[in-house]
Amino acid sequence: MRAFEFAYQLHKGQYRASGEPYIAHPVAVAGLLRDLGGNGTMIAAGFLHDVVEDTDVTVEEIESRFGTEVRQLVEGVTKLSKFNFSSKTERQAENFRRMFLAMAKDIRVIVVKLADRLHNMRTLEHLRPDKQRSIAQETRDIFAPLANRLGIGRFKWELEDLAFKYLEPEGYRQMQELVAERRQDREERLAKVSQILQQRLEDTGIKCVDLSSRPKHLYGIYQKMQRQQKGFHEIYDLAAMRLIVQTKEECYRGLAVVHDVFRPIPGRFKDYIGLPKPNRYQSLHTGVIGPHGRPIEVQIRTLEMHRIAEYGIAAHWKYKESGGSYNTRITTDDEKFTWLRQLLEWQNDLKDAQEYIDNVKDNLFDDDVYAFTPNGDVVALSRGATAVDFAYRIHTEVGHRCTGVRINGQWRVLDTPLKNGDIVEIVTQKNGHPSLDWLNFVVTPSARNRIRQWFKRSHREENITRGRELLEKELGKNGFEALLKSEPMQSVAERCNYHSVEDLLAALGYGELTLNLVVKRLREVVKGKQPIEIDPTLEETIVPPATNAKIPGASDTAKGEPIIGVEGLMHRIAGCCNPVPGEPIIGAVTRKPEPGIAVHRQGCPNVENVPGDRLVPVSWNTSDSNNGRPQTYPVNLQIEVIDRVGVFKDILSRLSDQNINVRKAQVKTQDGKPAIIDLCIDIRDYDQLQHLCIRIKKMSDILNLRRVSDLCD
Ligand code: MN
Repeated sequence: MRAFEFAYQLHKGQYRASGEPYIAHPVAVAGLLRDLGGNGTMIAAGFLHDVVEDTDVTVEEIESRFGTEVRQLVEGVTKLSKFNFSSKTERQAENFRRMFLAMAKDIRVIVVKLADRLHNMRTLEHLRPDKQRSIAQETRDIFAPLANRLGIGRFKWELEDLAFKYLEPEGYRQMQELVAERRQDREERLAKVSQILQQRLEDTGIKCVDLSSRPKHLYGIYQKMQRQQKGFHEIYDLAAMRLIVQTKEECYRGLAVVHDVFRPIPGRFKDYIGLPKPNRYQSLHTGVIGPHGRPIEVQIRTLEMHRIAEYGIAAHWKYKESGGSYNTRITTDDEKFTWLRQLLEWQNDLKDAQEYIDNVKDNLFDDDVYAFTPNGDVVALSRGATAVDFAYRIHTEVGHRCTGVRINGQWRVLDTPLKNGDIVEIVTQKNGHPSLDWLNFVVTPSARNRIRQWFKRSHREENITRGRELLEKELGKNGFEALLKSEPMQSVAERCNYHSVEDLLAALGYGELTLNLVVKRLREVVKGKQPIEIDPTLEETIVPPATNAKIPGASDTAKGEPIIGVEGLMHRIAGCCNPVPGEPIIGAVTRKPEPGIAVHRQGCPNVENVPGDRLVPVSWNTSDSNNGRPQTYPVNLQIEVIDRVGVFKDILSRLSDQNINVRKAQVKTQDGKPAIIDLCIDIRDYDQLQHLCIRIKKMSDILNLRRVSDLCD
């Protein structure tokens, strides 16, 4: 009452979009929490959940009036309300992480939030259509699955149906009409079934606590139609009978009665009592042919199971006697919350925001397949999951090393989809490793990500090792390790445009850099940038790029010329390195194929063999003089990707985003090896090229990207 009074005073004068006084909302939320069996703390938090956000009151004041627990709940809900789960990837991932942390501290925070969201969904009609859609979408994506995960069935169903109403208004209306149309017919039929069953149960001595029927929720029917590609009239469980008995044993005896009276439909029996869902839902489900040959779904459970189905984690607040010591913190060994623990662990594990979000979404949704380890532990996976998904769920290393699988004692291939109740024994080998082919059949994003990461990492490590070996051979073992960690080495890496020495070694190993260049740069750094003895001419030309290029009189001829320093001479862009404006360049005098100057990138391996007296300083003409039309230069990229389907399209879309023309594109695939994409694209300048490369490298399927020579003629 004190919380209500306080909230009432604070929200006075505020109104909702519906025109009602604002206080109607907190009152409704508090009511929902009371219905869930929340205690005084929860109900107070319901009344007060919006006061910090919408009025001047502080959390400190709430604490002094209502105690620490209420403060923490209100503070938690206030923070959650600031999260936007449809924002940019990084923000979104961050918000998920914070939400799960808040939940781990006190799971009741999310229950208050769910009650808040449910009432907001009930009154969504008063908002603008665009707001309605975005709130409904977030409800479908995040909050309904969360309610399901916490086992609060009644919240989940209503949230889903309300989201359905706003996201697919036409489908919703159709479902409503169709269900209503057949109501009378259905109710009569079910009343008859109920009568027959009740009689038989009584004869058998089973006390029937409740036997009722009610239509399934609309979104559930709709999803089933979509999933099974069926018409409305083919879906038979528009309503389910629910039989509630006193004991678990009576559930099975009740099932026997049901199967004795009506003929069971093969494949429709599910024992969620022996095999509870991860959210602790328990029940027996079966489908039988009722009177008039119409199928009916029957659910059998005890009262306790029914409470858990409706209230989930809130069930024990409602029915276990007060005493007040709720287990609201999640301990790491609490099996009920392994999913939440996983989500929390992943935040350290998955640095990539998109991957994290994929995992979160994957894990919030219903698991459909329950398979066992040989020890009898249940592993819940999404529909269609294979032995490899199973292996990765057990442990990343088990996934990486798995080489075979025995399902129910039989050897099977790794891509075998698992069925409920399968006993899965993964065989690993010490030197086993993932195969690219696995990406074609795994269904869980976590397995997919781990396989990709393995490929990225393993290639990188190989390359680093190779780079290291090359360099060590050149420089000698003595003091080599110390040199790698030294400051000069770091600055060599930076000079070559790499972040770290490791990156430099990887580039060297892959052939992106030549050994010569690294050694040369290292000597420069060590000797304090003195010109080095091997090739003085080259060094000189690199340091002062043709500053004398704009000599009077030459400017006219230079106009429109992209290169300065070659005035009056035939010149061409060298096809071996295809430099683009912005990159340091150097000219090499050539006689073949025709006399003139070939413009190379500085550091191009071909230049290193050119005698110093044949090199001339050249530079890019930065004055924009090409009649406003930017000149472009061909650049050849070779991209190594894991997953060819779709990736190619994504790469092309990144190119078109930047208005980059593609001259030539070729995809080469080989069984079991990464696909190679060769691209020849038109690039304006070095900045554009770098920007593009960064964007492409960020894609998770990309193993490698490098510039190569001679793809375009
Ligand atoms: Mn609210």
